[in-house]
Amino acid sequence: MSVSPPPLRVDDVTVKFAGLTALDSIGFTVAPGSVHALIGPNGAGKSTCFNVVSGLCRPTHGSVSLGDTELTRLPPHRIALLGIARTFQNIVTTAGTVGDNLMLGRHALSRAGFTATALRLPGTVREQRSHRARAREIAELTGLGTLFDTPVALLSYGDRKRVELARALCLEPRVLLLDEPVAGMNSGERARTVEVVRTVRAELGLSVLLVEHDMGLVMRLADEVTVLDFGRRIAAGTPDQVRQDPEVRRAYLGT
Ligand code: ADP
Ligand code: MG
Repeated sequence: MSVSPPPLRVDDVTVKFAGLTALDSIGFTVAPGSVHALIGPNGAGKSTCFNVVSGLCRPTHGSVSLGDTELTRLPPHRIALLGIARTFQNIVTTAGTVGDNLMLGRHALSRAGFTATALRLPGTVREQRSHRARAREIAELTGLGTLFDTPVALLSYGDRKRVELARALCLEPRVLLLDEPVAGMNSGERARTVEVVRTVRAELGLSVLLVEHDMGLVMRLADEVTVLDFGRRIAAGTPDQVRQDPEVRRAYLGT
Protein backbone atom coordinates (compact mmCIF):
# COMPACT_ATOMS: atom_id res chain seq x y z
CA MET A 1 0.00 0.00 0.00
CA SER A 2 1.29 3.46 -0.79
CA VAL A 3 1.41 6.16 1.87
CA SER A 4 -1.61 8.40 1.61
CA PRO A 5 -0.87 11.86 0.19
CA PRO A 6 -1.17 14.99 2.35
CA PRO A 7 -4.27 17.13 1.89
CA LEU A 8 -4.10 19.83 -0.78
CA ARG A 9 -5.56 23.07 0.57
CA VAL A 10 -6.62 26.06 -1.49
CA ASP A 11 -7.29 28.81 1.00
CA ASP A 12 -9.08 32.09 0.27
CA VAL A 13 -7.52 32.47 -3.19
CA THR A 14 -8.27 35.56 -5.26
CA VAL A 15 -6.87 36.15 -8.76
CA LYS A 16 -7.36 39.44 -10.57
CA PHE A 17 -6.47 40.03 -14.22
CA ALA A 18 -6.57 43.77 -14.94
CA GLY A 19 -10.21 44.62 -14.19
CA LEU A 20 -11.46 41.02 -14.04
CA THR A 21 -11.73 38.93 -10.88
CA ALA A 22 -11.11 35.41 -12.21
CA LEU A 23 -11.22 33.85 -8.71
CA ASP A 24 -12.88 35.47 -5.73
CA SER A 25 -11.85 34.11 -2.27
CA ILE A 26 -11.96 30.46 -3.34
CA GLY A 27 -11.28 27.74 -0.79
CA PHE A 28 -11.49 23.94 -0.80
CA THR A 29 -9.50 20.91 0.32
CA VAL A 30 -8.67 17.82 -1.69
CA ALA A 31 -8.78 15.12 0.98
CA PRO A 32 -6.05 12.44 0.93
CA GLY A 33 -6.77 9.84 -1.74
CA SER A 34 -10.00 11.48 -2.87
CA VAL A 35 -11.24 12.75 -6.23
CA HIS A 36 -12.32 16.38 -5.98
CA ALA A 37 -14.02 17.93 -9.02
CA LEU A 38 -14.13 21.60 -9.97
CA ILE A 39 -17.07 22.33 -12.22
CA GLY A 40 -18.69 25.43 -13.63
CA PRO A 41 -19.50 27.14 -16.92
CA ASN A 42 -16.84 28.41 -19.34
CA GLY A 43 -14.90 31.30 -17.86
CA ALA A 44 -15.81 30.29 -14.29
CA GLY A 45 -12.13 30.21 -13.26
CA LYS A 46 -11.42 26.46 -13.26
CA SER A 47 -8.22 26.54 -15.32
CA THR A 48 -7.04 29.62 -13.42
CA CYS A 49 -7.46 27.64 -10.23
CA PHE A 50 -5.29 24.85 -11.69
CA ASN A 51 -2.71 27.42 -12.72
CA VAL A 52 -2.57 28.76 -9.18
CA VAL A 53 -2.13 25.27 -7.70
CA SER A 54 0.58 24.32 -10.21
CA GLY A 55 2.43 27.63 -9.83
CA LEU A 56 1.76 29.05 -13.30
CA CYS A 57 -0.34 31.88 -11.90
CA ARG A 58 0.41 33.79 -8.72
CA PRO A 59 -2.69 34.61 -6.70
CA THR A 60 -3.44 38.21 -5.81
CA HIS A 61 -4.42 36.95 -2.36
CA GLY A 62 -4.59 33.63 -0.50
CA SER A 63 -2.48 30.49 -0.33
CA VAL A 64 -2.11 26.90 -1.52
CA SER A 65 -0.49 24.19 0.59
CA LEU A 66 0.25 20.48 0.41
CA GLY A 67 0.23 19.20 3.97
CA ASP A 68 2.52 21.55 5.91
CA THR A 69 4.30 22.82 2.80
CA GLU A 70 3.17 26.14 1.41
CA LEU A 71 3.27 26.17 -2.39
CA THR A 72 2.05 29.69 -3.10
CA ARG A 73 5.37 31.35 -4.00
CA LEU A 74 7.16 28.31 -5.45
CA PRO A 75 8.01 27.99 -9.17
CA PRO A 76 6.14 25.31 -11.18
CA HIS A 77 9.02 22.80 -11.35
CA ARG A 78 9.42 22.85 -7.55
CA ILE A 79 5.70 22.28 -7.12
CA ALA A 80 5.85 19.37 -9.58
CA LEU A 81 8.74 17.80 -7.65
CA LEU A 82 6.80 18.16 -4.40
CA GLY A 83 4.25 15.81 -5.92
CA ILE A 84 1.70 17.81 -7.90
CA ALA A 85 1.51 16.89 -11.58
CA ARG A 86 -0.96 18.21 -14.11
CA THR A 87 -2.33 17.78 -17.59
CA PHE A 88 -3.48 20.69 -19.72
CA GLN A 89 -6.86 21.38 -21.30
CA ASN A 90 -5.24 21.15 -24.75
CA ILE A 91 -2.99 18.28 -25.77
CA VAL A 92 0.74 19.01 -25.43
CA THR A 93 2.36 15.72 -26.41
CA THR A 94 5.58 16.01 -28.38
CA ALA A 95 6.97 14.08 -31.36
CA GLY A 96 8.36 10.57 -30.85
CA THR A 97 6.89 7.42 -29.38
CA VAL A 98 4.64 6.97 -26.36
CA GLY A 99 7.74 5.77 -24.49
CA ASP A 100 9.67 8.94 -25.45
CA ASN A 101 6.86 11.09 -24.08
CA LEU A 102 6.75 9.18 -20.82
CA MET A 103 10.54 9.39 -20.47
CA LEU A 104 10.21 13.18 -20.70
CA GLY A 105 8.08 12.93 -17.60
CA ARG A 106 10.79 10.82 -15.91
CA HIS A 107 13.55 13.31 -16.83
CA ALA A 108 12.27 15.81 -14.32
CA LEU A 109 12.84 13.19 -11.62
CA SER A 110 16.24 12.12 -12.86
CA ARG A 111 19.08 12.81 -10.44
CA ALA A 112 21.61 12.70 -13.26
CA GLY A 113 22.12 15.84 -15.29
CA PHE A 114 21.73 15.86 -19.05
CA THR A 115 25.52 15.91 -19.57
CA ALA A 116 26.07 12.74 -17.55
CA THR A 117 23.22 11.10 -19.43
CA ALA A 118 24.63 12.17 -22.80
CA LEU A 119 28.06 10.76 -21.82
CA ARG A 120 26.35 7.48 -20.83
CA LEU A 121 28.23 7.25 -17.53
CA PRO A 122 27.59 3.81 -15.91
CA GLY A 123 25.37 5.03 -13.07
CA THR A 124 23.23 7.05 -15.43
CA VAL A 125 22.76 4.16 -17.85
CA ARG A 126 21.42 2.09 -14.94
CA GLU A 127 19.20 4.96 -13.84
CA GLN A 128 17.85 5.42 -17.38
CA ARG A 129 17.01 1.71 -17.52
CA SER A 130 15.04 1.84 -14.30
CA HIS A 131 13.21 4.96 -15.49
CA ARG A 132 12.31 3.16 -18.70
CA ALA A 133 11.05 0.14 -16.77
CA ARG A 134 8.86 2.37 -14.60
CA ALA A 135 7.60 4.26 -17.67
CA ARG A 136 6.55 0.88 -19.10
CA GLU A 137 4.69 0.00 -15.89
CA ILE A 138 2.84 3.30 -16.03
CA ALA A 139 2.00 2.68 -19.69
CA GLU A 140 0.50 -0.69 -18.68
CA LEU A 141 -1.48 0.92 -15.88
CA THR A 142 -2.96 3.50 -18.24
CA GLY A 143 -3.81 1.02 -20.99
CA LEU A 144 -0.94 2.15 -23.25
CA GLY A 145 1.30 -0.89 -22.76
CA THR A 146 0.97 -2.23 -26.30
CA LEU A 147 1.48 1.26 -27.73
CA PHE A 148 4.76 1.99 -25.90
CA ASP A 149 6.87 1.99 -29.09
CA THR A 150 4.23 3.58 -31.30
CA PRO A 151 4.75 7.18 -32.53
CA VAL A 152 2.28 9.49 -30.79
CA ALA A 153 1.36 10.95 -34.21
CA LEU A 154 -0.24 7.60 -35.13
CA LEU A 155 -2.46 7.38 -32.03
CA SER A 156 -6.17 8.11 -31.80
CA TYR A 157 -7.20 11.30 -30.04
CA GLY A 158 -8.29 9.40 -26.92
CA ASP A 159 -4.99 7.53 -26.67
CA ARG A 160 -3.04 10.78 -27.08
CA LYS A 161 -4.99 12.36 -24.20
CA ARG A 162 -4.12 9.30 -22.12
CA VAL A 163 -0.43 9.71 -22.97
CA GLU A 164 -0.64 13.09 -21.24
CA LEU A 165 -2.15 11.52 -18.18
CA ALA A 166 0.53 8.81 -18.19
CA ARG A 167 3.29 11.41 -18.58
CA ALA A 168 1.99 13.30 -15.56
CA LEU A 169 2.01 10.01 -13.61
CA CYS A 170 5.66 9.52 -14.54
CA LEU A 171 6.46 12.31 -12.07
CA GLU A 172 5.19 9.95 -9.30
CA PRO A 173 2.75 12.62 -8.09
CA ARG A 174 0.84 12.55 -4.83
CA VAL A 175 -1.80 14.79 -6.34
CA LEU A 176 -2.83 14.60 -9.99
CA LEU A 177 -4.51 17.61 -11.61
CA LEU A 178 -6.59 16.75 -14.67
CA ASP A 179 -7.95 19.62 -16.77
CA GLU A 180 -10.86 18.27 -18.85
CA PRO A 181 -9.40 14.77 -19.34
CA VAL A 182 -12.25 13.52 -21.57
CA ALA A 183 -12.92 16.69 -23.60
CA GLY A 184 -13.42 15.77 -27.26
CA MET A 185 -13.52 12.02 -26.59
CA ASN A 186 -16.18 9.63 -27.85
CA SER A 187 -18.17 7.62 -25.32
CA GLY A 188 -15.92 4.53 -25.53
CA GLU A 189 -12.82 6.65 -24.92
CA ARG A 190 -14.56 8.41 -22.03
CA ALA A 191 -15.44 5.13 -20.34
CA ARG A 192 -11.86 3.95 -20.77
CA THR A 193 -10.49 7.11 -19.19
CA VAL A 194 -12.84 6.80 -16.21
CA GLU A 195 -11.52 3.28 -15.67
CA VAL A 196 -7.91 4.47 -15.95
CA VAL A 197 -8.44 7.27 -13.40
CA ARG A 198 -10.08 4.78 -11.03
CA THR A 199 -7.23 2.31 -11.47
CA VAL A 200 -4.40 4.78 -10.94
CA ARG A 201 -6.09 6.25 -7.92
CA ALA A 202 -6.49 2.81 -6.35
CA GLU A 203 -3.09 1.44 -7.39
CA LEU A 204 -1.00 4.54 -6.74
CA GLY A 205 -3.06 5.89 -3.84
CA LEU A 206 -3.03 9.46 -5.11
CA SER A 207 -5.50 12.32 -4.82
CA VAL A 208 -7.07 13.78 -7.94
CA LEU A 209 -8.25 17.33 -8.62
CA LEU A 210 -10.40 17.20 -11.72
CA VAL A 211 -11.86 19.91 -13.94
CA GLU A 212 -14.55 18.49 -16.16
CA HIS A 213 -17.54 19.60 -18.18
CA ASP A 214 -19.00 16.13 -18.51
CA MET A 215 -21.42 16.06 -15.59
CA GLY A 216 -21.95 12.30 -15.86
CA LEU A 217 -18.25 11.68 -15.46
CA VAL A 218 -18.04 14.02 -12.46
CA MET A 219 -20.91 12.16 -10.83
CA ARG A 220 -19.25 8.80 -11.40
CA LEU A 221 -15.75 9.77 -10.32
CA ALA A 222 -15.85 12.54 -7.75
CA ASP A 223 -16.11 12.20 -3.97
CA GLU A 224 -16.58 15.95 -3.58
CA VAL A 225 -17.45 18.76 -5.94
CA THR A 226 -16.78 22.51 -5.80
CA VAL A 227 -18.91 24.58 -8.18
CA LEU A 228 -17.56 27.88 -9.54
CA ASP A 229 -19.42 30.58 -11.42
CA PHE A 230 -17.81 33.88 -12.45
CA GLY A 231 -14.93 33.18 -10.07
CA ARG A 232 -17.17 32.62 -7.05
CA ARG A 233 -17.85 29.38 -5.22
CA ILE A 234 -21.60 28.87 -5.51
CA ALA A 235 -21.85 25.37 -4.02
CA ALA A 236 -19.81 22.51 -2.60
CA GLY A 237 -20.57 18.99 -1.41
CA THR A 238 -21.06 15.48 -2.69
CA PRO A 239 -22.11 15.02 -6.33
CA ASP A 240 -25.70 14.35 -5.21
CA GLN A 241 -25.79 17.46 -3.03
CA VAL A 242 -24.56 19.82 -5.73
CA ARG A 243 -26.74 18.24 -8.41
CA GLN A 244 -29.81 19.20 -6.40
CA ASP A 245 -28.63 22.72 -5.56
CA PRO A 246 -30.95 25.26 -7.26
CA GLU A 247 -28.17 27.78 -7.92
CA VAL A 248 -26.05 25.08 -9.55
CA ARG A 249 -28.93 24.03 -11.76
CA ARG A 250 -29.45 27.60 -12.85
CA ALA A 251 -25.78 28.45 -13.44
CA TYR A 252 -24.41 25.22 -14.75
CA LEU A 253 -27.23 23.14 -16.12
CA GLY A 254 -29.36 26.06 -17.30
CA THR A 255 -32.49 24.66 -15.69
P1 ADP B 1 -12.54 28.14 -17.11
O1 ADP B 1 -11.34 27.25 -17.13
O2 ADP B 1 -13.46 27.88 -15.97
O3 ADP B 1 -13.27 28.14 -18.42
P2 ADP B 1 -10.58 30.28 -16.91
O4 ADP B 1 -9.91 30.04 -15.61
O5 ADP B 1 -9.85 29.86 -18.14
O6 ADP B 1 -12.04 29.65 -16.88
O7 ADP B 1 -10.90 31.84 -17.04
C1 ADP B 1 -11.56 32.58 -16.03
C2 ADP B 1 -11.63 34.02 -16.46
O8 ADP B 1 -10.35 34.62 -16.42
C3 ADP B 1 -12.13 34.22 -17.89
O9 ADP B 1 -12.94 35.37 -17.94
C4 ADP B 1 -10.86 34.40 -18.69
O10 ADP B 1 -11.09 35.16 -19.84
C5 ADP B 1 -9.97 35.11 -17.69
N1 ADP B 1 -8.56 34.84 -17.86
C6 ADP B 1 -7.96 33.61 -17.75
N2 ADP B 1 -6.63 33.70 -17.91
C7 ADP B 1 -6.36 35.02 -18.13
C8 ADP B 1 -5.15 35.76 -18.35
N3 ADP B 1 -3.96 35.15 -18.38
N4 ADP B 1 -5.28 37.10 -18.54
C9 ADP B 1 -6.49 37.72 -18.49
N5 ADP B 1 -7.65 37.08 -18.26
C10 ADP B 1 -7.59 35.74 -18.10
MG1 MG C 1 -10.62 25.86 -18.60
